Formats: sequence, structure tokens, C-alpha cells
Amino acid sequence: MSAPILTLDRLSVAYGRVEAVREVSLAVPEGAIVTILGPNGAGKTTLLSAIMGILPSRGGATFRGTPLSRRSVEDRVADGMSLVAEKRELFVTMSVEDNLRLGGFRRRGTPGFGETLEAMWALFPRLLERRTQLAGTLSGGERQMLATARALMSAPRLLMLDEPSLGLAPLIVKEIFRAIADLRRTGVSILLVEQNARAALELADYAYVLENGEVVLEGPAAELRRDERVIATYLGIKAVAT
Ligand code: ATP
Repeated sequence: MSAPILTLDRLSVAYGRVEAVREVSLAVPEGAIVTILGPNGAGKTTLLSAIMGILPSRGGATFRGTPLSRRSVEDRVADGMSLVAEKRELFVTMSVEDNLRLGGFRRRGTPGFGETLEAMWALFPRLLERRTQLAGTLSGGERQMLATARALMSAPRLLMLDEPSLGLAPLIVKEIFRAIADLRRTGVSILLVEQNARAALELADYAYVLENGEVVLEGPAAELRRDERVIATYLGIKAVAT
């Protein structure tokens, strides 16, 4: 695999005296899709927030070869990081298109801006159909598409997605995962937090399993799909038959 775009070296994150993430080491190779699986409360959201610089952390972390310790959230965005949070917060009184334009405001007027907008319509044709609709009137799945597309408008090198399938109907989940698979071809690296382990392991190159704030298992996604512990805990009995 290629050199990592992101590395974490024994990264810990605490809420007061409670350590929610403990000495997590991981790497996201350039252009790869890496997934973090784990039950509710394992520390997945906390970890993404720390990588983005929203929460303070201890330990080492580098992005594109540069230590993250002194980088603010704004610096990290400018360096090419983007996070789609679980809440999918949008500008609800603005149109779909204006949400996208705002997502790329740092790049407005640059040569690639119009192309990125066109690429978003191609990636999510539903958003093009709803171009002038207010974001607050979108369905849950469309909100996820818009939140993802808005994050992509800043042309990130690393896109972090927190539970993109949460609360969505299976058909919509399929569409979202299809779009994430399409993104691979653009060269963006992806760090995907998911509870839908089956879908995530089908898509990802490499996976980490987080439990109680610690990495308890890691490996190529194809191997984890066959791992008995993963099958029993995260894939359910159906995986044995398939
Ligand atoms: P979920 O899928 O339910 O979001 P998660 O794996 O993302 O789970 P986190 O949300 O990162 O887990 O939570 C990790 C631990 O940190 C949990 O024990 C949680 O209760 C705790 N925690 C999360 N946010 C806070 C906070 N703001 N203050 C104190 N403790 C928190």
C-alpha cells in the first residue's frame, strides 16, 4: 500500500478524567478506504473529533507528513481534511446548491470550483434534482448526500465520515456506499466510521475494530470479513452462510 496520509501513534482522548480513546495507533494509506468499526460508545466519534482538532488529544498524529499537534481546526481544513459529522448539520434555510457553494467558499473563483460542483451533481444525481430545494426539507438520505457533497466541495485529501448509514433505509444506504466507492477513483483517502460492518468491510481496504476506546483487532477488510470474532459480533449469523 502507498504511504500513509494520516498516522496516529498512541493517540488518547479524555473527557475530564475519563479516557474515551486509549493509545490508538492507525494509518490511512494515501487513496485508501479505512474503516473503524465498533459498538456504541466505543470512542469512534471521539476519535474523529480529535483527528479534526475539535477535541484535544495526547500522543502523536501526522497528516501529510506534518505533525498535527499545533494545527487548529481551520489549519487542518486548509491542509485538506474534512469531516462529515453524524448529525449532518446543514444550512436548513438555504438551498441545496447554496449549501454546496458555501462548502467550497475557500475555493470560490478558483479554476476547479465549477468542476467540483459539476462532479457533485454527477456523484449524487438526487441533489441535482433538488438543486433549488431548501436543505431543511430534504429526507434523511438526501441530507447525508448533501453533507457529504458539501464536505467534498473543499476538495479534501482526507474525507472522514461518521456513520453515513445511520438511520437510513437500505436502498439509500446502498446509494451512499456506491458514491463512497466512486470517490475512491478520485484519489481522496477515506476514513469511515460505521456500525454497518457488513457494508463497511465490503468497501474498505483495511479495518480497525475499536472497543472501549482501544483497538482490539485490525487487518485487511477481506480478512476481517472472515474473522470468526468479527462474524459473531458484528456480522451476525447470516455471514456464516454467505
Ligand atoms: P456512538 O456510535 O454511539 O456515537 P462512539 O463509538 O462514537 O459511539 P463516542 O461517542 O466517541 O463513541 O463515545 C465514547 C465514550 O465517551 C462514551 O463512553 C461516551 O459516553 C463518552 N462521551 C462522549 N462524548 C462525551 C462528552 N461530551 N462528555 C463526556 N463523555 C463523553
